[in-house]
Amino acid sequence: METLLEVKGLKTYFPIKKGLFGKKAGYVKAVDDVSFSLKEGETLGLVGESGCGKSTTGRSILQLIKPTAGEILYQGHDLTKKNFREMREVRRDLQMIFQDPYSSLNSRMTIRNILLEPMRIHGLYSPREREERVKELLEVVGLRREHADRYPHEFSGGQRQRIGIARALALKPRLIIADEPVSALDVSVQAQVLNLMQDLQEQFGLTYLFIAHDLSVVKHFSTRVGVMYLGRIVELADKKSLYHSPKHPYTQSLLSAVPVLDPDDKKERILLSGDIPDPKNPPQGCAFHTRCAACMEICKSERPPLKELASNHMVACHLY
Ligand code: SF4
Repeated sequence: METLLEVKGLKTYFPIKKGLFGKKAGYVKAVDDVSFSLKEGETLGLVGESGCGKSTTGRSILQLIKPTAGEILYQGHDLTKKNFREMREVRRDLQMIFQDPYSSLNSRMTIRNILLEPMRIHGLYSPREREERVKELLEVVGLRREHADRYPHEFSGGQRQRIGIARALALKPRLIIADEPVSALDVSVQAQVLNLMQDLQEQFGLTYLFIAHDLSVVKHFSTRVGVMYLGRIVELADKKSLYHSPKHPYTQSLLSAVPVLDPDDKKERILLSGDIPDPKNPPQGCAFHTRCAACMEICKSERPPLKELASNHMVACHLY
């Protein structure tokens, strides 16, 4: 399979300003040296607690936030070097599904206009073809053609997320960055939306970067999973290795919190001590050492690099 996206050494830092005149007082390293690749047709799940940098990674890839450093190669072309017009062209291929279906749709626009908008902006299709495409998109996401004349408030949360997905599909993209697309929905509706996204992937050969805070959400969906902690990927592996043999203590604790259906599976919950550290002032060495039960002296001073333990399994931890 062709490598569609390659992220190399991505850094996105936000300046911290202090005092009356907003003097710069350091940076929040929201994304700090993140690298991964995505092959056509696969799904990479990017998982971690709130504030770990996973959403900033997604937005930096689409250049919605300007990265501080690194390369984002889409089909070999570095997106960080593209100007506004060139980036607009690429955005036809790269779309985003947002977390909150309530606020991501313009409440004053009909569904027809919401779906027409990206096609108009990109000057695609004739007016008649656009109308046909609106109907087609609604059907493809499990809604009805007549829904085109309604407004977002007339729909349930799950239906609104279907509209968000239809809007993302309007330009026939190849890669979709889905930023917590089901976290605002009820559990029963979550499964329906996840199934829909999986069907669409098969139907249109889509590639997904699927951002979630919960490993259970990406379990059935992802080909590979990356676990992020305080701006860095601490473990990156194919799905089977990660769920059956997690190596990083942080991944182990996240996995221990995933509910299991088998009553005989008596896995022990690994509770983390303390909260996620302040990203404005991250710990020295391994950023996880303040919460890690396996912490050693070296962990407090030396940051472990992400290294390959086996083919398709990388981990950043001094235990290995
Ligand atoms: Fe724990 Fe040390 Fe590994 Fe960090 S490097 S996860 S502190 S054992």
